[in-house]
Amino acid sequence: MTTNPTRTNLNERLDSIRRDLLTMNQMVSDRIDEVTTALLERDVGKADQLITDDDNIDLIAQGVEDTCIDTLIREQPVAGDLRAIIAALHMNSDIERNGDLTTNIAKAVGRMQGSKPEDRIRDLILRMAEQAKILTIESGKAYEHLDEELAAKIDSMDDVLDDLHRTYIQTVINSARHGELEAHETLQLAMIGRFYERIGDHAENVGERIRYIVTGWTPENAGAERARARAAAEGTSIERSDLDAPNTGRGLAIIDSIAEERRIDATRRDFVANVSHELKTPIGAISLLAETLADAGPDDDRDRLTRHLNREVKRVESIIDDLLELTRLEEFEPERELLSVDELVHQAVDVARGLADARGIELAIVGVPSGTHVNGERRQITRAMVNLIDNAIRYSESESQVTVSVDEITDAVDVSVADSGVGIARPELERIFERFYRVDPARSRETGGTGLGLSIVRHVADNHDGKVVVESKVGSGTTFTIQFPTTQPGENDAPPASDA
Ligand code: ADP
Repeated sequence: MTTNPTRTNLNERLDSIRRDLLTMNQMVSDRIDEVTTALLERDVGKADQLITDDDNIDLIAQGVEDTCIDTLIREQPVAGDLRAIIAALHMNSDIERNGDLTTNIAKAVGRMQGSKPEDRIRDLILRMAEQAKILTIESGKAYEHLDEELAAKIDSMDDVLDDLHRTYIQTVINSARHGELEAHETLQLAMIGRFYERIGDHAENVGERIRYIVTGWTPENAGAERARARAAAEGTSIERSDLDAPNTGRGLAIIDSIAEERRIDATRRDFVANVSHELKTPIGAISLLAETLADAGPDDDRDRLTRHLNREVKRVESIIDDLLELTRLEEFEPERELLSVDELVHQAVDVARGLADARGIELAIVGVPSGTHVNGERRQITRAMVNLIDNAIRYSESESQVTVSVDEITDAVDVSVADSGVGIARPELERIFERFYRVDPARSRETGGTGLGLSIVRHVADNHDGKVVVESKVGSGTTFTIQFPTTQPGENDAPPASDA
């Protein structure tokens, strides 16, 4: 009898990778329960324990990655075995990320400072946690038994979690609007919801990797299939000549996309770090001012301290308000109605008027009445316009002029906001739409900026199939133009909006 030592080695390595991944997945599943209990029972001690324990998952993940790479190099697997290892590398990072997400929830427990959200929010947290756990367990089972049918069902299980998450975010936002939640609680609760939802996304990825192991299926294959079917139905041909050729680059492309996922994760981590950093400064100032006020004697200038305190509180409120707005813009489609552009511009200018007066800036409107209409959400569009006008005022010298103009072009309308202020240098123009990016952080803070205004503008434009462009010259001024597709009254079903 002959045995093949290489094959034995390969099988042993594959087994050990699979065992480790299943162990990690089980650990994540347990952690979902534990962290949810800690969250609902406000058990900060338990949450701290979970944060430390996450290192155990990281340790296994590190081992799996090493084994996978070692196996690729030493055993040079082909066909199904190669697929199994490539998929394992992916699953390893998905499961490890889910460990991190449970840690993020545990960290939020500490930051919630023992507050107790209302029952409806607690109930939704519990339901999201249950669904995230189901997704984790079922994806584990599908991997253990290489059950392609079960793996294909994970997608719809994740839809359930996505629906729960949407309801949850709406509930949190409503509670915040009704003043039932403090600003910091709202932010933490919004982030917690997002963490559960992301766990579902990673479990869905695991399902996709299993289908790849068993049949070679990938979301890209499925997309290509659909494109082929469409082309066949339309009698057209698909331009890419190699679509039917065996895809020899597949393994490499998948390793590339791991790098892409890491990049996205890093961006997300940066964002959370940025939010924490942005809030830390004003919150630090608030606690210092509050202490000073408490100890202030009768001769001290209590009014000045109180004014300063209020300004810092306002700053925290603005940051949270803008963050919630960004979440809403990402989560929900605009609630469209037929809107008069002239009316929107007047509304936005009215909102910005106070700031313009305070800074001695003249606000002029040109090109109105234009008689144009757009199909969009009033709140979103006015907010975008107000952000642009506010910026024009804040980055101009007093006594100057800011002009808002409306120009109708074919099938679209341009609303431009022009100032003769400080201007923006060319290299910065590419970055100003990033969250928290500021050319001059001191000026932005001093004038009450959050660094999120232009991200909101860009999101609103995207959500309405529009665009935003900027032209600027340092020292001469800046013009931002936001463009929306126009609609003729009667062109769609939405009734004209009243003068609400
Ligand atoms: P902020 O709250 O800091 O104003 P934004 O996202 O609205 O944040 O803008 C990002 C950055 O772009 C600002 O910090 C500022 O440096 C620059 N900027 C925006 N609008 C103008 C403008 N009209 N003139 C000059 N610089 C501007």
